[in-house]
Amino acid sequence: MTDFFHLSTRSTETCIPDRDWHEDAKGEILCSLCGSPRVPLENVDMHLAEWPQQASLTAVFGARVGIIKDDLIQMLGHDAIGRCLEIGQLKTSRGEKLSGYSSFRGKELALIRGNDTSICRHCDECGAFIYFPMGREYLVADCLPQAPLCESPIIQLVINDQLRGRLDIKQLKKVHLAKISLAGSPSDHHDVRRCQGGFKLREDS
Ligand SMILES: [Zn+2]
Repeated sequence: MTDFFHLSTRSTETCIPDRDWHEDAKGEILCSLCGSPRVPLENVDMHLAEWPQQASLTAVFGARVGIIKDDLIQMLGHDAIGRCLEIGQLKTSRGEKLSGYSSFRGKELALIRGNDTSICRHCDECGAFIYFPMGREYLVADCLPQAPLCESPIIQLVINDQLRGRLDIKQLKKVHLAKISLAGSPSDHHDVRRCQGGFKLREDS
């Protein structure tokens, strides 16, 4: 059976969108409530006021968008990245291309679950399914990731055994890799179903 691993940031470096860009982006490009992108990231040049100097993996403050450095893209391989992630370009506040880093979203969400204090809802504005696991993290056996590389609920990455084998963790900067345990059923008391394009919460749960 395939094991899955959560690859997440250990960085405290901030990654903050440019304020003017962020204000303009709210509504059409990013949901103004939850920060989910409303257009494919390929079509978005996100402007950042602050960005990580080292970390191979982080996320943007105030947007449901991750940031991945070229070293991690190289290790995971362009085949997996191209198949499994949406990738966008980054710019500075002055509109200069920010090389070495890209924005990303997973084409598939790996639904890491938590305990019954986990946040599980749909965004009131854009309808995006939002889950924030609390406590011990696990995957539920009948909802395992289908792609080798997925987005995690905290906009980091979930990888399978095969991609884990490509990583030289010591060469990456400020990332944490943890094997995700499996559970037969969820203990968060949320009735989540797989649907086309992701997951949805049953209204009455
Ligand atoms: Zn939203």
